[in-house]
Amino acid sequence: MIFDILTIFPDFFESPLEEGILRRALSAGKIDVNIYNIREYAVGRHQMTDDRPFGGGEGMVMKPEPLAACIDAIVSDGGESKIIALSPRGKQYTQKVAEQLTAESRLILVCGRYEGIDQRFTDKYVDEEISIGDYVLTGGELAAMVMVDSITRLLPGVLGCSDSAANDTFSRGLLKHSQYTRPRDFQGQTVPEPLLSGNHAIIEQFRLSESVRLTLEHRPDLLTEVQFSSEERKMLKQEGLLDAIQDINQIL
Ligand code: SAM
Repeated sequence: MIFDILTIFPDFFESPLEEGILRRALSAGKIDVNIYNIREYAVGRHQMTDDRPFGGGEGMVMKPEPLAACIDAIVSDGGESKIIALSPRGKQYTQKVAEQLTAESRLILVCGRYEGIDQRFTDKYVDEEISIGDYVLTGGELAAMVMVDSITRLLPGVLGCSDSAANDTFSRGLLKHSQYTRPRDFQGQTVPEPLLSGNHAIIEQFRLSESVRLTLEHRPDLLTEVQFSSEERKMLKQEGLLDAIQDINQIL
């Protein structure tokens, strides 16, 4: 997967790409990340990338020509690509969207700054606007990094244990169960007994009911989408959780 990132702050991406799983994915050739400095595509003595908004008002607006010139240069090789502009008004970014985007071979991520990007660039060049949440960042760089990180860990062969992404929070529509490690006793708090049983079925059952309990408590809205097998339904009924899920589904 190739990520092309357009930004006026190229240094922003240095450190996140040099650590942990992203660094490994880069050196293993699982991803390629190209950072483009928008300023280098701006013309004139001052290489301006922004200007005052027509109609007045606060702040500056990112000019369309440098962004267009940069995209034209990137796609000149004719390869397939999807152009995404990071924007607080965009489509909500979720795990499902991340999963869908793994099917792309190349993502071009446009980072806005100031009051955002001239609408004519968005209309002509951008396939989709994406928001990483209902809050306003100072720029699209953090949002682009969130996308690179969350998509990369879903690519085949990136995570050490192939199970870890499949069992993540959201993958099944449930929050992930809590985790425990040594010591067995931490300041008087012990590890739940089922996890020490050594019995795989008991452990899986405990973890599923823990996941359901956590989802009911923190994100009941997610439960409307989750499918349970008949075995799971039987177990959840015994634990008194099935009724709670059905109640939630009726309310939502
Ligand atoms: N004035 C704009 C508004 O009210 O919608 C906000 C502009 S924001 C200060 C500057 C840039 O940060 C945006 O163009 C976008 O690229 C990025 N940005 C801010 N919040 C974001 C979010 N929640 N998701 C994705 N990108 C965001």
